[in-house]
Amino acid sequence: MSEKEILMGLTRESTNEEIKKTAFDLTWSIRFISMATVKNGMPEARIFDMTLLDDGSLYFITASGKPTFDQLQANNNIVITGVTKDWQAVRINAIVVETDDPVIKEKFLEKNQGTKSLYSNSPDALRYFRLDRGHGEITHLYADDMHARLKFGWNGMEPRPDVYHLDQELCTACGTCYDVCVGKAIRPGDKYSIDYFNCLECGSCYRHCPVGAISKN
Ligand code: SF4
Ligand code: SF4
Repeated sequence: MSEKEILMGLTRESTNEEIKKTAFDLTWSIRFISMATVKNGMPEARIFDMTLLDDGSLYFITASGKPTFDQLQANNNIVITGVTKDWQAVRINAIVVETDDPVIKEKFLEKNQGTKSLYSNSPDALRYFRLDRGHGEITHLYADDMHARLKFGWNGMEPRPDVYHLDQELCTACGTCYDVCVGKAIRPGDKYSIDYFNCLECGSCYRHCPVGAISKN
């Protein structure tokens, strides 16, 4: 399978903005997605409806009486995750902010007639949130043994750092990491390297390198 056929047309040359856009589009298309908030320091997850993608921003709603709302008031960090039947997955770690923008509210209700009807007696219970900043990644298990990943950050936040690092000064080119790599992500040569596009972050290379040339963040 060519690189262009995986990760929804993205390649390792894709820009941060292109990856973010694809990740947000994917989230919107999956729509019913797992969302975790923080409750007393512990994660609490539920299936959530990502209900509006507008001008490059994702929005969702909750009601002011719901535990989700209380949790967001105490800690506005969320993680959303979803996967398609073709094994394209998205994960976004975001800091969310509440919005009172009447245009967004109107657009939201226009596109979500069921919610509008459900809350017709009590529309002021609805509270609107935007994913304001954060980082994320999209991954694609595109064959039984091949996996690709691209990361992004937005609104001042960097992509999540890579987990494993190969120090080419220490590498003796013994080939052990190549043999044990489950993601086919080790690139051989005079000095070996990790191709993060295919790295599963399994840590096998780190555990087996005989000279400690691979470190973990
Ligand atoms: S196992 Fe370590 S020394 Fe051997 S090729 Fe990989 S990084 Fe280099
Ligand atoms: S962490 Fe796993 S997938 Fe990534 S390079 Fe090392 S062995 Fe390969």
